[in-house]
Amino acid sequence: MQFFKGSMLELIIQTSTNLPPDVRQAMGEALKTERPHTQAGQALAIIGQNVDMAYEDEGAICQDTGMPTFEIKTPVGVNQMEMKKQIQEAVAEATQRGKLRPNSVDSISGKNSGNNLGPGTPVIHFEQWEEPDIEVRLILKGGGCENMNIQYSVPCTLEHLGRADRDLEGVKKCLLHAVWQAQGQGCAPGAIGVCIGSDRAAGYHLAKLQLFRALDDVNPDPTLAKLEQEIMDEANKIGVGTMGFGGKVSLIGCKIIAANRLPASFFVSVAYDCWAFRRLGVSLDADSGAIKQWLYLDPKRPVERLVAGAGFQVSGREIRLETPLSEEKVRALKVGDVVLINGPMVTGRDAAHTYLMRHEAPCDLRGAILYHCGPVMMKEGTPPNVRWRTNAAGPTTSIREEPYEAEVIKRFGIRAVMGKGGMGKKTLAGLKEHGAVYLHAVGGAAQFYARCLPKVHSVHLLEELGVPEAMWVFEAKDFPAIVTMDSHGNSLHEDVAATTGAELEKVGATR
Ligand code: SF4
Repeated sequence: MQFFKGSMLELIIQTSTNLPPDVRQAMGEALKTERPHTQAGQALAIIGQNVDMAYEDEGAICQDTGMPTFEIKTPVGVNQMEMKKQIQEAVAEATQRGKLRPNSVDSISGKNSGNNLGPGTPVIHFEQWEEPDIEVRLILKGGGCENMNIQYSVPCTLEHLGRADRDLEGVKKCLLHAVWQAQGQGCAPGAIGVCIGSDRAAGYHLAKLQLFRALDDVNPDPTLAKLEQEIMDEANKIGVGTMGFGGKVSLIGCKIIAANRLPASFFVSVAYDCWAFRRLGVSLDADSGAIKQWLYLDPKRPVERLVAGAGFQVSGREIRLETPLSEEKVRALKVGDVVLINGPMVTGRDAAHTYLMRHEAPCDLRGAILYHCGPVMMKEGTPPNVRWRTNAAGPTTSIREEPYEAEVIKRFGIRAVMGKGGMGKKTLAGLKEHGAVYLHAVGGAAQFYARCLPKVHSVHLLEELGVPEAMWVFEAKDFPAIVTMDSHGNSLHEDVAATTGAELEKVGATR
């Protein structure tokens, strides 16, 4: 197995940087479906450009490279313990090369292991089969979409849809609800893997395994094939759209399995994956571990660009924001405005918010834009000439900071917070009271935004919090974002949740 570790490293790098062709195809269709000057159309243009940049420069498509999950089939007699060790080495090397973000955090101490290794990470499942080769499939599913997974225990009552019974109509209601409840927080348009039945734990696992099916395959079970198609058709009528901005494309895939259940239980388990749907696989020679064939990729078909031109085009209607921001400038902004940010901008996500609730800020935040982002950073050079390069820097899900944000804005004089998926009522009230806005960047567009952050001014709390959670002060250059919550009490997220809820009710009323 002298080539096994190298094969795993190549699989990780390709999975992180090269979106599979079936997902490209689905995103290409989405690009054609949405009108270019809508918010969904603009977001898709950035996504398309980001996917192209990631492939061309072999950079991570999204900065959240997720929980690496390997599903492996081996012939009898293969040494699985040795394979596991080599996979761990490959994961650590991919992290060191900046292809994976250090994502493995001790759940008790909060310390990041720095190399994606630790109890429970990466996830590796083995199964034996009667084929002569080894098959390894890998999925990189990030935290934003993982948090949108949902499990229903039917019968249950669903918002906008009423009662879901223990039958296929009830299952259908659950799946439409799953797409609706994710809104933009899972970086829509997404795909769902579904398990009808099983128990709570195995149901989630089987649902996630469905995400290994190609988006364009057809379920061999005609009942499930019909259900998958119906969900695709109906979920795309609800209007969640890209990033939850509203639009025609909310779902790019629905893959369902049914498993036997206990008579007393009826679970519907849903694994939600984002547009940055990164999964690939390889077939390996069982003696050498060398790659014999790529799964999902067609070697005869060259990788096609998603956007023909430059992708996101500045229209001239954008509002230029120079940091630090004044209250007057911020109060003039309205929901729907597209802004181009220039000047210093500071990151802060979960651990930084916890820190700011208890300490003084490590840098001046007056008039600042606080960017919810955990970047992938590479250290270059040797002391004293060390510099940081930004490898990937898209937004993370903002709602996690909802309990703290209004207080942080008030205490430190922050004028804008930026992330993805929007925030709740408490933050909206804080924006109004203190004169601030919420800016929405396009989730997953890590390569695109890394290029809008050409310089690192400084980094704070690096030792204490680790790379993704540290507070990085970047220089922003023409960084585009959309105002989705303003200082006048308006929220695009509340509006879209209401209109899509009404659409969901219409769909539910036909049942
Ligand atoms: S695209 Fe969005 S949901 Fe997906 S991994 Fe990236 S940040 Fe998370």
